[in-house]
Amino acid sequence: MPECVNHPGREASLECAKRGVRLCDECAVCAAPKSHCENRPRCLIWARRSLPDAWIKDSA
Ligand SMILES: [Zn+2]
Repeated sequence: MPECVNHPGREASLECAKRGVRLCDECAVCAAPKSHCENRPRCLIWARRSLPDAWIKDSA
């Protein structure tokens, strides 16, 4: 299981495409929503931030 870079032992559900690190839900905040991640829709953190809440709940 991939671990959160900030929380060893906690499962990381998302990966930051900019930093190249894995993050848990608590830590998953887009690092650069304007300058970097906006052009990288495969970044799950950016995608989650951009999609409706319903999609997030369904995928959890
Ligand atoms: Zn974390």
